[in-house]
Amino acid sequence: MNKRKFLKQSLWLTAGATIFPSVVLSDSKMDTKKKQMIKTALATSTFTLPEIPYGYNAFPDKIDSMTMEIHHTKHHQGYTDKLNIALKEVGISNKTIENILGMENLPTAIRNNGGGYYNHSLYWDILTPGGVMSEAFKAKIIENFGSQEAFMNELTATAAKRFGSGWAWLIQDKNKKLYIFSTPNQDNPLMKVSEMQGNPLLGIDVWEHAYYLKYQNKRGEYLKNIMDIINWERVEARMV
Ligand code: MN
Repeated sequence: MNKRKFLKQSLWLTAGATIFPSVVLSDSKMDTKKKQMIKTALATSTFTLPEIPYGYNAFPDKIDSMTMEIHHTKHHQGYTDKLNIALKEVGISNKTIENILGMENLPTAIRNNGGGYYNHSLYWDILTPGGVMSEAFKAKIIENFGSQEAFMNELTATAAKRFGSGWAWLIQDKNKKLYIFSTPNQDNPLMKVSEMQGNPLLGIDVWEHAYYLKYQNKRGEYLKNIMDIINWERVEARMV
């Protein structure tokens, strides 16, 4: 991975001193608070709750601020804390979350809480108030799904059909092809237990806690609305 590519990736997914902390911390564009957060994470080898750059009230017509706040400060924080405890218990440190989730025979507590930690970190990263798809990414979508409409329909239908709690995914497999599928609970495409594996580009949370206050049982309405606030630039940047 070159330096540019590395810096493009979100830094909060890394705990432990395995990947070039000096490069990260020498990034002049990074603010002091973020540097301090990374230093703390490196020192303690634990994962920290990422900040939401756009705030809780960024898209009140799509996801209300109370849902955002509870989702972030209670649910995501809970997964983060329990992941750190579970890692300590089994003695795992100095690994990226991606490496941890890709392990064979993942202990249940790490599967659930590590999945919850990673999935929500991705979710905040790929939302924005009003995202626009680049022409290059649009072409990629058309190449893989026939049309932009077919892609949107498949993604929302896959999310709608997930029975109970889980996630719908857009992934890039090792042959760089794009696929849509879903996983139950907090599983994700990095895990060996996942029906398909690949690089997650976009994840949509279909747990009721993600939409129930505003939408109650109308998951379809939530899905229709969330498609308006996808950060397509970030989704595209996640491609390798
Ligand atoms: Mn959630």
